[in-house]
Amino acid sequence: MTHRHDWSRLLVCAVAVCGLAAIWLWLPENTEPRLIPPEGQEPDIETRSESDSATMPDSAPASQPASRPAESQPLASWEPPKSTARQKERDAMVRTIRRYGLADQRILDVMAAVPRHEFVDARLAGSAYDDCPLPIGHGQTISQPYIVAEMTRLLELKSDSRVLEIGTGSGYQAAVLAHLTPHVYTIEIINELADSAAERLKRLGYDVVKVRHGDGYYGWPEDVDFDAIIVTAAAGQIPPPLLKQLAPGGRMVIPIGAPFSIQSLVLVKKDSDGRLSAQRLMAVQFVPFVRKTKS
Ligand code: SAH
Repeated sequence: MTHRHDWSRLLVCAVAVCGLAAIWLWLPENTEPRLIPPEGQEPDIETRSESDSATMPDSAPASQPASRPAESQPLASWEPPKSTARQKERDAMVRTIRRYGLADQRILDVMAAVPRHEFVDARLAGSAYDDCPLPIGHGQTISQPYIVAEMTRLLELKSDSRVLEIGTGSGYQAAVLAHLTPHVYTIEIINELADSAAERLKRLGYDVVKVRHGDGYYGWPEDVDFDAIIVTAAAGQIPPPLLKQLAPGGRMVIPIGAPFSIQSLVLVKKDSDGRLSAQRLMAVQFVPFVRKTKS
């Protein structure tokens, strides 16, 4: 490893951890700084009843009630791709994730299995296994590995779960999900990112992931009933169509809050009777959830 290489890693991390004001001044719009989870602090809990969520404005097209598609059975033939390139760095990244207190071995194994360096630009590949968010173009970022791991853990996926991601970005989070279930759907609002993520996922062997270009506010309305929904951009409120598309017993993780401020990572659960509850888990900072489709 050259000194120049070390400097670029240091620079990327220094940018990610410096103060919010400095980040706003220094980085391009929409860049997600690194999260440092508050230590030794109990999460704030808030519970929202279904009637609260019913007051949210709903401009989405009504989703079709649909029975669970037959394809939600686990694909007997699905084997996630295996790759071992830069395995030592991946293992070191996993040790860092473990230090946050994340001990779920299944999630740690998945984080060790996905080649994160394939999801970032070659010039940043040296920093791919640092615990930092990294730019992926168009002012967007691939999230910090710990946050990817924690959000994935919160979904409690089973091998036949159907999971919807809003905010495909590089496709990294979708690849992580695909190690747990082959039924991964992901939507990206920036056309070029959707195209490049679809191509990358296919090239790396994650061809089970269904990638769509569009506004994730509306979810995937023709294919409702997701056991899990993960939103990787910060919204002002939970989009009502996503609440509708969550199956009974389903879980959603979504950062809620104003753009470019500290947001809350919220876990939404729908019980078997369709009642919703939400818990605010920790402070995070994500790029904004936007509504205008860009080509
Ligand atoms: N999960 C990604 C990183 C997400 S960055 C990864 O693993 O690389 C957040 C992404 O959400 C950005 O790519 C942004 O363009 C996208 N996004 C923002 N608003 C959106 C919306 N309404 N619908 C779909 N995607 C959206």
